[in-house]
Amino acid sequence: MRTPTGHPAKEAALVSGTTRVIGIIGDPVSHSLSPRLHNAAFAALGLDYVYVPLPVVAEDVGAAVRGLAALGFRGANVTIPHKGAVIPFLDEVSDDARLAEAVNTITVDGGVLRGYNTDVEGVRRALDGVAGGTLDGQPALILGAGGAARAAALALSRFGCRLTIVNRTPAAAERLAALVTAGVPGTRCRWLPLPDLTESEVRRQRVVVNATSLGMGGEGKVPALLADNVTAGQVVFDAVYAIGLTDFLVAAQAGGATVVDGLTMLLGQAAEAFSLWTGVPAPLEVMRDAVQR
Ligand code: NAP
Repeated sequence: MRTPTGHPAKEAALVSGTTRVIGIIGDPVSHSLSPRLHNAAFAALGLDYVYVPLPVVAEDVGAAVRGLAALGFRGANVTIPHKGAVIPFLDEVSDDARLAEAVNTITVDGGVLRGYNTDVEGVRRALDGVAGGTLDGQPALILGAGGAARAAALALSRFGCRLTIVNRTPAAAERLAALVTAGVPGTRCRWLPLPDLTESEVRRQRVVVNATSLGMGGEGKVPALLADNVTAGQVVFDAVYAIGLTDFLVAAQAGGATVVDGLTMLLGQAAEAFSLWTGVPAPLEVMRDAVQR
């Protein structure tokens, strides 16, 4: 029997004394799609791994991270609100994680804890698929200045984009602009408070990114100024993930833009983490099927 993606169907893996364990540390973690997509990928490739949710409150972050090594874990993902808090407890941190001030993936090698930020790679892969070779020197606008915006800013600056960061809280936009300018040599990055955003500013962009939580259920909508002014020829990326397109991407598609959804970024960051833990490429279609099921 084969799965819808053509991979041979496998029996659910049995956890044994040799099974390598990966966790996800966060608060909450019960909503996370990561256990589902990684366990499906391990099973599809016949890898003796299991992925488990690990709810951890803020005061226990240090004990939890050190516990990964003590308990013989192969690694972990880290999610909200602990992506920054884990850093002091790691032995080494990648350049992307240091610049983003956020770790979302940990590996454990012989007791050494290494932190990575695969969200940056998730954005890079998502945009590379539609526009990678065409972005050098092009203007890109990022709405937001939190964790997803940092990942987008680092990925877009490495494509050579000229960045404009727009955020509700101006100080956060200013800080992100300074961080990217200092961290990625040659980057040009300016920032604007959200009320100063204009139609013409949106229209002159090659890439437009929503990296806020606007558009998630109950969080309000992406401002109409942004959604209604995207045009053909633009690439529009929404970090918010949903089954199907978000309202922002529906509007962008209606305006003729090429759209990239948050699920593609989610799969890209997961694929990079999977390879860090297992040393083999991730079965992306198995992962996509698992989250869409
Ligand atoms: P975060 O660090 O808390 O940042 C949230 C951002 O949203 C901030 O810039 C905040 O502005 C802005 N914001 C929130 N409410 C707003 C409002 N009412 N009006 C204007 N701006 C508002 O969160 P995050 O980790 O960056 O996550 C942002 C989104 O990206 C979430 O939907 C998350 O699920 C998604 N995400 C997706 C992936 C993926 O793999 N697809 C990965 C990471 C995150 P202020 O600075 O003014 O508060």
